[in-house]
Amino acid sequence: MHILSFEQVCQRGQARGKRVFIRADLNVPLDDQGRITEDTRVRASVPAVRMALDAGAAVMLTSHLGRPTEGEFKPSDSLAPVAQRLGDLLGRPVRLVADWVDGGFELHPGEVVLLENCRLNKGEKKNDAELSRKMASLCDIYVNDAFGTAHRAEATTYGIAQYAPVACAGPLLAAEIDAIHRALAQPARPLVAIVAGSKVSTKLTILQSLSDKVDGLIVGGGIANTFMLAAGLPIGKSLAEPDLVEDARRVIDKMKARGAEVPIPEDVVVAREFSASAEAVVKPASEVAADELILDIGPRTAARLGARLKAAGTIVWNGPVGVFEFDAFSHGTETLARAIADSQGFSIAGGGDTLAAIAKYGLAERIGYISTGGGAFLEVLEGKTLPAFEILERRSREQGGTG
Ligand code: ADP
Ligand code: MG
Repeated sequence: MHILSFEQVCQRGQARGKRVFIRADLNVPLDDQGRITEDTRVRASVPAVRMALDAGAAVMLTSHLGRPTEGEFKPSDSLAPVAQRLGDLLGRPVRLVADWVDGGFELHPGEVVLLENCRLNKGEKKNDAELSRKMASLCDIYVNDAFGTAHRAEATTYGIAQYAPVACAGPLLAAEIDAIHRALAQPARPLVAIVAGSKVSTKLTILQSLSDKVDGLIVGGGIANTFMLAAGLPIGKSLAEPDLVEDARRVIDKMKARGAEVPIPEDVVVAREFSASAEAVVKPASEVAADELILDIGPRTAARLGARLKAAGTIVWNGPVGVFEFDAFSHGTETLARAIADSQGFSIAGGGDTLAAIAKYGLAERIGYISTGGGAFLEVLEGKTLPAFEILERRSREQGGTG
């Protein structure tokens, strides 16, 4: 994938004195007093803004916040708290500009303005062409730095990129693109994926798409239970989706036909009830009783899979392999997480609960890349081309980007 980066634009001196429009992801959680409770996304937006300021640009940036109704401003939809926090982080004032689509606000090189919640603009969600053109005419350079919305074609993520004189990827988006490319487009082999978590139904497309690409497909959690059913193993009262057993079998067969493998657990950790205080019993996968629930992979399975992960060239990880929230059933997820951290291969991980597990074991620094994309990351694993990537790639070809 060849996408022009904002860094390249700056290095060529093309941002000096120019108006730069950054689409960031500043959708932070707020409490009922309107105070920011977690500011990771604001902090993450700083490098793009600094890059623009250092290059001598005038900077405007915007983001969505929550789910406002287009055209109907409520004070709780305002990015005002974000403007304040961003100003503190940058050590300079960040002016908030409302009703900005038709321009008319002042902005000079060296200044930063925050354009009010872009989802307040009529036509944002529908990627309206007129709105997109107006926004594009506000700037000389459009920078997309919001991977979390890259799977949506909206006016600030897609339309504006069609019409802006220059369209490129900010540092956060560029890092995400690089990591995805390294993991899926040109992976060092063997490529091993872990697809786990609660349900096959939410991840069936991912399983099908990855089964064409990976050398090993490790399933875990409720997903593994459905695969165990497909393999003819008893699973008692475990979470599973019997209607999807045929789909699971097709994934297994497709992998086998390519000489690749879906390892089925040989031992499991079971309980009689779904609770943090339930007694955990390790047993062979073939001996699960009718009144038992499988809540984790067993230690032999974890050790065997851990060894495979340590030897992998590339690892893609989405989904905990057990109910890691309960300590007695968290060992499988922890063993695999540590194996990924110890692996010499390149690893990429994403998914809400997967990131919670990584944080629980304090391994964030030792994973190759942690995707913050949520839904966008899952769509990449599904093999979809994200709209934001598609338009930036097309514009990069026209602009002579070198990737
Ligand atoms: P992610 O958010 O990383 O994409 P999912 O939401 O698909 O992951 O799945 C995570 C959830 O799956 C966790 O809450 C975990 O407790 C649950 N889970 C994992 N293994 C099992 C299991 N064997 N039975 C029931 N739930 C499970
Ligand atoms: Mg989840």
